[in-house]
Amino acid sequence: MRGELHYDAVVIGAGTAGLVAGARLAEAGARVCVLAKGVGSTHLAPGTIDVLGHAPERVSSPGGALEEFAAAHPDHPYAALGAEIVNDSLQWFLERVADGPLAGYRYVGSLERNHVLPTAIGALRPSALVPETMAAGDAQSGSDRVCVVGSRSLRDFHPALCAANLSHAGIAARAVDIEIEVDRADENALGLARRFDDPDWRKGFAARLALKLQADERVGLPAVLGARDPHGVLADLERRLGRRVFEIPTLPPSVPGMRLFEILRSALRRAGGRLVLGAEVVGHDRSSSRVNAVATHAGGRDVHYAAPWFVLAAGGFASGAIELDSSWATHERVLGLPLRGVPDQTEPRFVAEYLAEQPMSRVGVAVDAELRAEGVENVLVAGAALPGAVSWREGSGEGIALASGSHAANLVLAQAGARTGAAA
Ligand SMILES: Cc1cc2nc3c(=O)[nH]c(=O)nc-3n(C[C@H](O)[C@H](O)[C@H](O)COP(=O)(O)OP(=O)(O)OC[C@H]3O[C@@H](n4cnc5c(N)ncnc54)[C@H](O)[C@@H]3O)c2cc1C
Repeated sequence: MRGELHYDAVVIGAGTAGLVAGARLAEAGARVCVLAKGVGSTHLAPGTIDVLGHAPERVSSPGGALEEFAAAHPDHPYAALGAEIVNDSLQWFLERVADGPLAGYRYVGSLERNHVLPTAIGALRPSALVPETMAAGDAQSGSDRVCVVGSRSLRDFHPALCAANLSHAGIAARAVDIEIEVDRADENALGLARRFDDPDWRKGFAARLALKLQADERVGLPAVLGARDPHGVLADLERRLGRRVFEIPTLPPSVPGMRLFEILRSALRRAGGRLVLGAEVVGHDRSSSRVNAVATHAGGRDVHYAAPWFVLAAGGFASGAIELDSSWATHERVLGLPLRGVPDQTEPRFVAEYLAEQPMSRVGVAVDAELRAEGVENVLVAGAALPGAVSWREGSGEGIALASGSHAANLVLAQAGARTGAAA
């Protein structure tokens, strides 16, 4: 069976970049469909919007550093985007969070100053916009000591390790364990977050924790403070414990990342956009310089999605959109587009040092200065599919995704008025 559906724009990928592009297109009146084989990095990453954390030294003001960074890295996505587009996308995002499905929940911060947040192992990580539930973890905010709270029930979070490393970094910290009754031996962060959403359960937890706390301590918990009502959970815990409380991102599944996904999905849907998950793009129809349609195969049914514009936001190696095959050849698997940044055949693909920049790190779809796929006039590229960034080293992945998703949508709207009458 085969069907063909027509849209003003089709976005491939439902990570931050694709959802932002889809939502912004839909908000401007375009008929848009976001196709994705599954959810993206949102469900794995911390849920913060890291714009620029290291360049290579730790960056205190990402807004102040962007121009120099872009000038020094002309092939980086930020060189094409610039601080104004980054800032516009952050403002748009802050508004969508405020109007979003999680009542009262908000992100705090700006390009002015990076927060410095603890990771699950007590390292410090700079980030521009952070969920309110993480803000009190900022190593720069106040001198009160940190009590890192964990539970043996949540196996992925080790408060003693986190506290020891924070202490090495000069932040007075200690760890406590709280017994939590669980139904499943393999309780994960999402399961615990659902418990925190329950006011009765939370009351009991806070009462047990209060007995273990000392004066002048703020409380760091793994990022499980509610899946449905994080704002209410944070406020209630802070009231009951009489002190600041914050979340520390932990191993996947990432509850703050899932909240981020819900906020962006909700923005897309409220604007009338469509999201089809489980729709892997397995083929496409292309004439010399245009993609005319993409094909998905799901549930025994082939569906073709035709549009005058496509946004490729399918991620990079992590999502499988770019692959290195067994003959050491590198491919863009979704639309078969040429790549940039691939080391020459004679050069090594990997270096031995684990934390070094890998030769393949900057690989992405070859684009022009407007982030349009080279040689294809109607495909814009966004997010981790772009070349030139080493996002895990720079702390730039979510900033690039947000800004380039916005930029792709605005380019489609500006260049074509979405061709079929969408508001430009
Ligand atoms: C574990 C982890 C931790 C991270 N930590 C940080 C951090 O601390 N700070 C930071 O800034 N960045 C971090 N990142 C990176 C950051 O999350 C990403 O750079 C950013 O989210 C990329 O978003 P994206 O939308 O471009 O791609 P992705 O989130 O990878 O989404 C790609 C989307 O494309 C879809 N897709 C792929 N192929 C197809 C296909 N053929 N057909 C249809 N759909 C397809 C996928 O299903 C998915 O929906 C982390 C990433 C991971 C994985």
